[in-house]
Parts: sequence; C-alpha cells; structure tokens
Amino acid sequence: MKITTLAVAGSVLALALTGCVAGESGTSAQPGAQGGEGGSVKVGIKFDQPGLGQKVGDTYKGFDVDVAKYVAKELGYDPAKIQWVETPSATRETAIQGGQVDMILATYSITDERKKKVDFAGPYYIAGQDLLVRADNTDITGPQSLNGKKVCSVAGSTSAKKIKDQYAQGAQLQDYDTYSKCVEAVMSGAMDVVSTDDTILAGYAAQDQYKGKLKVVGNPFSEEKYGVGIKKGDTEMCTKINAAIKKMIDDGSWQKALDDNLGPAGFKPNTKLNPPTPAGNCGA
Ligand code: GLU
Repeated sequence: MKITTLAVAGSVLALALTGCVAGESGTSAQPGAQGGEGGSVKVGIKFDQPGLGQKVGDTYKGFDVDVAKYVAKELGYDPAKIQWVETPSATRETAIQGGQVDMILATYSITDERKKKVDFAGPYYIAGQDLLVRADNTDITGPQSLNGKKVCSVAGSTSAKKIKDQYAQGAQLQDYDTYSKCVEAVMSGAMDVVSTDDTILAGYAAQDQYKGKLKVVGNPFSEEKYGVGIKKGDTEMCTKINAAIKKMIDDGSWQKALDDNLGPAGFKPNTKLNPPTPAGNCGA
C-alpha cells in the first residue's frame, strides 16, 4: 500500500518535472516506474571479484552486492528477489542498452565516453588504478616501471585504456576478459603484472590460494568513480539511486559494507576521496 502510494507519487513528480507522460509508463524494463509490487530487478555485477562482486555457490557477496541490495530496497524491491546477472567489463554498456539488466554495480567507473551510451547514478565509491605483482617482485613500483613488462588487463576497462593511452610504448598489454584470468596468468608466470583498481587487486591478493604469493604495489595512478549504470534518460531512477546511496552513507551501512567486504583483505580506502558525494549526472 505504502509502496504503491510512493510509486504514484513518483509518477506524478516525474510528470510535473517533465510535463510529459510519453515513455514514462507502459514501457518495460523501467524498474523506477514499477518498483515495489513484489517485482524483481535485474542487477549486473561481477561474479569473480572477491570483496566486490562474487558468486559463491548460490550466493552473491561483496561491496557492490551490498550497495545493490540497499539501493534495490530503497527503490521498493525485495533484495532477496534480485536477479543477479554477470556483466564482465566489455559487456556493460550493451547489457544496459539491451535491457538484459536494469542497473549495473560492477566496479563500473563513470566516464564521459560511457555516458554517451548509459547514465550513471553515484559515485558510491572512488578507487584508484594500481598494480598486482608476484610477492617476490622488486622492479615494478608504479606505472612508470612497466617498460618491457607483460601487463594483463581486461577488455573494455578504463584500466586497459589507461595503459594503452599512457604507457603503451613500454608495456606489452594483453587484454583478457576477466581479472581472475589475469591473476592466474601472473601466478603462472605468463604475465608479469595485472593492472586495475586497487579494490579489485586487494580482493585477489587476500584469497587463500594467493596469500603471500601476490602483492599490490600500492601506488594508485587514477581516480575511478564507481557509478550505478542505468539506461540513458531515466532521470527519475537516477535521482532515486543517488538518494539511496546518500542514505546508505549517512546511516552507516556504507561503512559497514566496506568494512565487512574489504576489511578482511586489509584494504584501506582512500579517505580523502571517500565516502564520495553521490551528485550523479542525472539528466545531464
Ligand atoms: N573501474 C574500472 C572500469 O570500470 C576497472 C574495473 C572494471 O573493469 O570493472 O573499467
């Protein structure tokens, strides 16, 4: 009852804001309009990033998962009914555009290039690109020491793009489709280093099978603003997600989710940048 009232209020608000109903109702895959009512929502996450988005048996764990559950609840969905969809880096924009997912929380950086295809609420976290090497490595200390090194990253990521754009001359970049495969390749010696967000790398380094064998260099060289990717033009949903993130930060759930999921890996968030202000680019 309460949820229905909210949904109606939301529609009226949208109507008032846009002065136009066309496209606001009746279209499918508009969770913002259909929230509540016991419906389910499709959320894109990573399945292989411990601490962030990980499928363990039939359960889903990680900071992205906890933020997604909180946001879904605020939008009127039952978090237990979320349909989790695996969205590797290179598939994210098309998964949103094609309606395979309603929103994506998958260590997904807000960028101008991506904003041409999708919208972002958030940010809900700011990470930094870093490097992961074998524990006995001493010559890789930052992006400037990648000359002649075999660098593994993932297709469609900002991490691969940065290496390509700024360190391409010296580094031999290989694009894999997931970071977990990159980590395997560094363990086997096929690759020298994995480059992506410090959050992701910390999660791998803390895995039982890698403990003491891998280390994060700890010299971040970018700002990765994690956004909630949604369909372009859904200003109403974007605004609601921003409000949900703000609430999550204010009531302590955000800090708890971070501690629960990345604390065990000994990961220390950059407190100069976090928690961020979820200003979003809703409608921009
Ligand atoms: N945050 C970066 C990105 O969105 C790297 C991590 C990832 O590929 O998910 O591209």
